[in-house]
Amino acid sequence: MGLFSNNKISRDDLKPGDHIYAWRKAYIYSHHGIYIGDGKVIHFTRGDGPVMRKGTFVDKIIVSSMTNHGGYNPCPNCGKRSNTRGVISSCLDCFLAGGNLHLFKYNVSLATFMSQLRGGTCTIAPSDPSNEVISRAKFLLLRNGFGDYHLFKNNCEDFAIYCKTGLVVGKSYVLGRNGQANTVGLAACVARMLTPLVRNVIRLFSDVGMRKDAIKVPVESLVAWRNKDDTTVTRKRRLQHKNKHSVLTFYKHIVKFRFVI
Ligand SMILES: [Zn+2]
Repeated sequence: MGLFSNNKISRDDLKPGDHIYAWRKAYIYSHHGIYIGDGKVIHFTRGDGPVMRKGTFVDKIIVSSMTNHGGYNPCPNCGKRSNTRGVISSCLDCFLAGGNLHLFKYNVSLATFMSQLRGGTCTIAPSDPSNEVISRAKFLLLRNGFGDYHLFKNNCEDFAIYCKTGLVVGKSYVLGRNGQANTVGLAACVARMLTPLVRNVIRLFSDVGMRKDAIKVPVESLVAWRNKDDTTVTRKRRLQHKNKHSVLTFYKHIVKFRFVI
């Protein structure tokens, strides 16, 4: 598997603020996080929520490769967790889950980016200083403020890239413009039909470092926007439920009325 081993890094060479990743399930997808020092990693996980739709092929793969922090055999470093969903802090072993340690590279040249055979290993965008990176990761951990996991729209690589760069795309703070989204699922199937050059050009123009609509957003604003968005979604769901309930009540009255007459 030499194709994916060029970013391998030893634990001794890790520095706080590094964006690291590990391949899972025979290189089907990779899990990303921010190393914060003292053997700890902050990362964004699917937990018990769906990656897209519960029970799908991808969902089953990711659930089956997750580290089990509960049960009768919890990790001695992390302990038994009550919450494994969203932004969490784990020891390096739990993060790697048996995979090899890799370093995600920033500020790479166009030539290096184009030479990568697989997405989700590097970006053209430069990294912010490590203290800013760790500060963003810790804030998102404290507030569990990165929203719900979605493989293509809001995933672990998005989380790590945001912590490293503070960049999101466009007014809607869109994430999921990264290599992970190209690694699994329909996008990967379509991409495999293309030549490597065309595939890499598509990846290049999706890269957050290349996008002209990428903007720097302070972590406090991102969390506030996410909470507002969640509240809006919850309100919409409540309204839909209320409307559905009203319609059901209306039909029940009609049925009752028919029985009465
Ligand atoms: Zn652990």
